[in-house]
Order: sequence, then C-alpha cells, then structure tokens
Amino acid sequence: MIIMKQSIYNTVEEKAKVITDLSDKIWGFAEISMEEFKSTEAYIEVMKSEGFEVQTNLCGIKTAFSGRFGSGKPVIGILGEFDALSGLSQVAGATQKEWLCEGGNGHGCGHNLLGAASLGAAIAVKKEIEKGNLQGTVVFYGCPGEEGCAGKAFMARDGMFRDLDAALCWHPGDVNEVTTGSNAACMQFEYSFTGLTAHAAGDPQNGRSALDAAELMNVGVQFLREHMPKKCSIHYSFSDVGGISPNVVQPKASTIYMVRGENVTEAKKLLERVHKVAQGAALMTETQVEWRQIDGTSNTLSNHALEEVIYNNLCAAPLPQFTAEEEQFAAAIKSTFVTEQLPSDGAQLNWQVKQAVAEKSANGTIPLNNFVVPYAPSDYFSPGSTDVGDVSWLTPTAQFTAATWASGNPGHSWQNVAMGKSGVAHKGVLYAAKVLAATAADLMTQPQLLEKAKAEFAVSAAAGYDCPLGDEVKAPHAE
Ligand SMILES: [Zn+2]
Ligand SMILES: [Zn+2]
Repeated sequence: MIIMKQSIYNTVEEKAKVITDLSDKIWGFAEISMEEFKSTEAYIEVMKSEGFEVQTNLCGIKTAFSGRFGSGKPVIGILGEFDALSGLSQVAGATQKEWLCEGGNGHGCGHNLLGAASLGAAIAVKKEIEKGNLQGTVVFYGCPGEEGCAGKAFMARDGMFRDLDAALCWHPGDVNEVTTGSNAACMQFEYSFTGLTAHAAGDPQNGRSALDAAELMNVGVQFLREHMPKKCSIHYSFSDVGGISPNVVQPKASTIYMVRGENVTEAKKLLERVHKVAQGAALMTETQVEWRQIDGTSNTLSNHALEEVIYNNLCAAPLPQFTAEEEQFAAAIKSTFVTEQLPSDGAQLNWQVKQAVAEKSANGTIPLNNFVVPYAPSDYFSPGSTDVGDVSWLTPTAQFTAATWASGNPGHSWQNVAMGKSGVAHKGVLYAAKVLAATAADLMTQPQLLEKAKAEFAVSAAAGYDCPLGDEVKAPHAE
C-alpha cells in the first residue's frame, strides 16, 4: 500500500504541469456560475488527452460533464467545481487590490484550484487502475454553478451520483483540515409583484404599487425572523424595483429570497410561511404576486468513517514546503486582511489548536499553515449552504480543505484571486490531488472502509433524499 501511495504521489508530480496549467487557465477564464463554457472545453480537452471516457451535457446542462475510467465496483466519484465570482477580477501576484479587468470576474473562492486538483486525483487513480494495482471505477464530475446556482443539486435531481459507492471533494482554504459537521439546506425563490402604474402625484388613487408590496413583504419577513427555528435564516435582495422615477407608481417589482433551514423539511416549512407573507403584502397593496424557484440545496450529511480515511491521508501525504519568497508573498497578502479570522469556520473541534494557530498567525509568524489540523468528528452545524449537500444524500461523501492561501484569509476576496496562480496555490493543489487519490485508493483496496461508510450513511440518510428542487425548475442554459 505504501508503495502504491508513493506511486500515486509520483503520478501527481509527473502530471503537475497538466494540473496547474489547467488551474491557471480556468483562473484566466474566470467564468461565473453556469456560464463556464470555455472552462468546460479546457476540461474536456485534458480529460480526452488523458484517456477518460468523457460525457458532456449532463442532465441537459451545457457545463456539466464527467470523465470515467475503469470498470465495475467500487465506483468512486471525485467532485470538481470551476466557477468564478463577479466583481472579483484581480491581478495575480499583486499584494494590493488591483483590477485585472475593471468590474470583471475572479476566482475568489478558488474553484480554479478545486476542479484541477480533483481531476489530477482522478488521473492518478486511473494510472493505478491501468497498472492493475486498483480495481473499480473512478469518475471525475465537472460540477458547474456552485456559487449561487446549485449545479450539483440539479445533477442530483436528474439522476447523477446514484451509482457511486462514495464521493470525495475538497476546497481551497488556509489550512489542511478534514471538513466535518453539517451545513444548512437552502431554497432560493424570486417573488414578482405586479400592480398598476399611475402618475404618483396627479393620479395616485389609481396606482397600485408593486414596489410597496415588495417593501411590505420585507417588513413582514423581518417580523417573521423572531418566530422561526434557531437554525433557520432568511436573506433577500431586490432583483427589480420597477423604474427609477419616483413620480411613477411602479407597476412591477421583484425580490429574491434565500430561505435556509437545518434540513430541507425545515427550509420548506419556513418557505411556506414566507409565501404567506408575500400573499399578505399583495393583499395589502391590491397587487398580484407570483413566485418561482431559482434553486435549492440540501443540508450536508457528514460521514465520519470517510473523514477518518481522508485524515489519515492528509497526514500521510508529503506536506507542501514553501520557499522564503512564497512565505513573504503570503505575509504581504496577510498584512492586508482587515480582521483576523480563525483558520476555519469553527466547524471542526480542537479549539486549542485553532487558538494557537490564530495567535501565531496574528503575530505574523505563520503566513502559511503547512500542518494538518487534528481531526475530531463533529456534528457542528454551519449556517451556510453547499450543493455538496445533495451529493451527500445519495452516497457517502466527505470533504477537506488544503492550504492554498495565506492564513486567516477572508472568503470570496481579491486576496484569494491574487494568490490563485501562485506557487503556494499550486503546491496546495498538488497536495490536495494526492490526498484525494490516496483516499480513493484506500476505498478501492479496503472494502471494510466502504462498508463502514455505507453503514453510517444508511443511518444518516435513512429519511431518503428529498430534492429541494421542484421538477419544473431548470438550471440556467439547461435544455
Ligand atoms: Zn464560494
Ligand atoms: Zn467555493
């Protein structure tokens, strides 16, 4: 086993240029949620040249694809993401905010790294299958639209991931750490109000303001917040305010709501109450309201059995060694952080370790974390959401973070974009690829590990997958 792990690490090093070139290319494309067309082409090119059986247009989504190799059981899925964020364009390597393209997009969540390492891992597993060291199938999934579109939830609804024996994922971060605990389920809806336009001064009695209705809905939801379960939260934005002329009664207005709950059932229950508030606002203003679902994600089911396998591989794989220049660059980036954050969101236990790291980071002695945070299984609930949750209801799923950024980095930041093509990020990507591939190898060679993961999954997912997406909801650009 040790020999095979070394062989996996060697493959990742041999393919380092393919993996990091792909990551840098995706960084450059910086395509946002569900518009990752060039990124998809780049992935397909690499998957084909590496000899994967490629499937495109999964579930009618133009930027969803997979690369498969091997045959029979077990089938191990490795999840990849590659979408960017709007407004986060940034010059690579700069230590201050500097547009690469003013107002453009950027990889502030590091999904250029995420997808590339995942495919790199699939390449390393494939090599061991070819050599006869591993038996089974590896599938790399190109999952689009993680940022605000729930690509994996659409794929899950439409039949993906069900044939997997386990799914593995990682995320760029500032520390090497197993991700444990759960995330919230989330339902995203748009409410559109329709009223009657009129001259706001000359003819107000004949106007019925959709904008008033949208405002009143927000007031109503504000009062609802006191009376909802603790793990629920609600966020909103205006997607249409009618027009900009105050002397016109606005005949249309729309708001977008994100309604979160501990699980899909709770989120749906709360959503019904938000629907009622919308109806109330329409009644008060004599307007009409309609709503439509945009997307939805399930809560994440952790799988401690898989987490343990990942942890062992985080510890076994050689940790990145950073150069003095890389440390200096990270320190310069770190000096721009407004508030020091803990190395992660507290989802993991071992608070003393976190405190110690945070203290050292605050002193500037650790601009880069190149150690593995001790693992302790946790049921900690994190209030955010991820579409990995939907995969976790269909197959045992586990994730980790690898250090690709300066310690204490803010999420969705220009600093992450600035570091996204750096040597630090590249080293983190290769480390993540090694850990993912070695974990898959363990699962393929030690059936008892998968059995344990499946037994845990049978209990945690006993309620069955209740997809948060209605059948009528379509992913953007889906056929
Ligand atoms: Zn993100
Ligand atoms: Zn992300």
